[in-house]
Amino acid sequence: MANSINGKAVLVTGSSKGIGKGIARVFASQGAQVAVVARHLEAAEACAAEIRDAGWIAKAFAGDVSSRSSMTELAEAVAKAFGGIDVLCANAGIFPSASLEEMSGDDWDQVLCTNARGTLFALQACLPYLKQAEYGRVIITSSITGPVTGYAGWSHYGASKAAQLGLMRSAALELAHHQITINAVMPGNILTEGLQGLGDEYLQKMASSIPLKRLGSVEDIAHAALFLASKEAGFITGQTLIVDGGQTIPENIDAMG
Ligand code: NAP
Repeated sequence: MANSINGKAVLVTGSSKGIGKGIARVFASQGAQVAVVARHLEAAEACAAEIRDAGWIAKAFAGDVSSRSSMTELAEAVAKAFGGIDVLCANAGIFPSASLEEMSGDDWDQVLCTNARGTLFALQACLPYLKQAEYGRVIITSSITGPVTGYAGWSHYGASKAAQLGLMRSAALELAHHQITINAVMPGNILTEGLQGLGDEYLQKMASSIPLKRLGSVEDIAHAALFLASKEAGFITGQTLIVDGGQTIPENIDAMG
């Protein structure tokens, strides 16, 4: 399965760290040419250098998904460097917390502009190249939070993650005319650099609410994205894949058995 990604040009937004970095590494390990994208070029450069040190292909680019012009320039630069764009992993996202009482319009807009509108801008910018590729795969990183579950303090985030799925389903119909597929992975609690700082006790408590009794790894998400980007997944579009260790399954604590 993985061989079909060999040589493909893959653009991963938000890939200087966390899940995006995991996606970039796993795709590169399977022979893809990977564009590592983040707002801070230095961090993207560090990730791309790590990938190249492992003997794989990666190049860093600066890009801000909340800016249409930034995404257009980015897609042009990536296509020039790699001879096109075959796969877009629309992964960049932010998750500041705010209670309903304190959430300002700007708080709401910032999260929606990055997570939902940013997915649109990245897709629009890559679209001309995905059409040319005659392969075209888009994989969105959504979340269980919003589409399936809720989290006090993250109502704007949950709305943005659900918005990505609404966008995806209609986009699937438009993109099908060009043989481009678009799907979403929905991660549960994933152990990223950000979570590592919370301490072992907190992380163990989080893991205890997951049937598989561990947090997810960035590779768990990357392998799901890799499947959706493969040639073999070419008849799957407009779909979601929950990768959460069973976290969304139990009705209540007793149901965990
Ligand atoms: P993270 O570790 O905070 O990394 C976020 C990445 O996105 C960084 O590379 C960051 O670099 C980049 N980024 C942020 N804003 C950006 C923008 N406007 N334009 C371009 N790049 C931007 O995040 P993560 O935890 O890996 O999350 C990645 C995605 O997975 C998000 O969409 C998130 O909603 C989703 N997710 C995460 C979890 C989890 O448990 N971690 C669970 C469910 C869903 P710069 O700051 O340099 O731009």
